Amino acid sequence: MGIKIFEDLRREIVDRNLCNLCGACLAVCTANNVNALTIHENRPQYNETTPQIQKCLECGICYLICGQIPELNEVIEAKYGAKPPLGSYKYLTIARTTDLTIQEKAQDGGIVTSILKYLLEKNFVDGVIVNQSIEDWNSVPKLITSSEELVQTAGTRYTAIPAVQELGNYRKLNLENPRLAFVGTPCQVQTIRKMQALQVRPGIFVKYLIGLFCMENFDYRTLMKEKLQNELKINLNEIKKLNIKKNFFITLKNGEQIEIPLNELKHLVRENCHYCTDFTNIYADISVGGIGAPQGYSTVLIRTEEGGQLFTNLLLERRIEEFTAEPNNVTQTKAKILSLIKKLGQTKYENGQKTKSRLNKNGDDR
Ligand SMILES: Cc1cc2nc3c(=O)[nH]c(=O)nc-3n(C[C@H](O)[C@H](O)[C@H](O)COP(=O)(O)OP(=O)(O)OC[C@H]3O[C@@H](n4cnc5c(N)ncnc54)[C@H](O)[C@@H]3O)c2cc1C
Repeated sequence: MGIKIFEDLRREIVDRNLCNLCGACLAVCTANNVNALTIHENRPQYNETTPQIQKCLECGICYLICGQIPELNEVIEAKYGAKPPLGSYKYLTIARTTDLTIQEKAQDGGIVTSILKYLLEKNFVDGVIVNQSIEDWNSVPKLITSSEELVQTAGTRYTAIPAVQELGNYRKLNLENPRLAFVGTPCQVQTIRKMQALQVRPGIFVKYLIGLFCMENFDYRTLMKEKLQNELKINLNEIKKLNIKKNFFITLKNGEQIEIPLNELKHLVRENCHYCTDFTNIYADISVGGIGAPQGYSTVLIRTEEGGQLFTNLLLERRIEEFTAEPNNVTQTKAKILSLIKKLGQTKYENGQKTKSRLNKNGDDR
């Protein structure tokens, strides 16, 4: 069998509505200066302004690194000890930023923004790829090089964008070997580990992977425009914060809170999320979520040596602080969180496996 290329990816993944919309296929194509691909209506496709035959090198990298293609799964599972439901981790902690400006904007404990700020300020990286909020609660992936811009990227947008694609823009930095940090959902982080397993650009430039816990994600058009704006008549510009805990919570700038049962949004969850088995972002250096943590704190899983060193440095510089209470309370809270994320992680793992096996039974030709 010959090398599988983007045409195969289109047939096996994109046309079956299984694409994660992570943008990794575009990232490797841009990094190699080929630019054969583009994204149209949330789907990667050949760039029709440049005929595919001339452009695509048929190298097959986009196929191999796709999060929905299992080819490299065993390689990265072995390297990162990715045993379900939580993968490998050194320890769990509960922490928050000490920076009041970040606290104000952050989704939970502001740990992610504090880490990225530290990395830029200490010149440990040349740029970080984040999800930047634009008007009407839409967002775009952005390569940021100055810590002042970071605060505006704090907070969670529950809508998928091709963040990994932005890695391909490392060329803008004009550096031969740029050092980058990336923050993203499990499907995004996983593709970067696959690039690193193959030792290809731009994955090899990523020095730190900060992973977000993620149960599911949505499309901007269906969630924000059709559901919130058109059906529920919510002015998107009046929204201060969105949060998924037991239900979907919308906090308006005037302080009013609207609660939508998650069941009402189930049909809007992106199709690819039903195939995902990773809740806690098992391939990250540090994984961060809000689940189980006291208000204003984050739940943090330290996974790799690099992640552990980084987190310790932030603690030493008092940029972040761990949750303190009666020692017994801290231990109990951590034990409760661990059991909760194990339970949710296991549920997501089993559901993802079930959906995958249904797909296989129904004639998966991969
Ligand atoms: C789609 C989605 C679903 C999630 N589901 C859960 C969940 O079920 N349980 C749970 O405990 N936590 C979940 N999280 C993580 C949680 O919402 C927070 O992102 C996390 O706790 C970090 O909080 P923080 O205050 O440290 O981050 P902050 O300091 O506020 O920084 C947030 C970072 O997230 C990035 N970001 C924002 N939106 C997106 C996006 N759509 N895609 C990629 N990056 C983004 C921003 O660039 C920013 O760097 C989810 C996050 C996302 C994006």
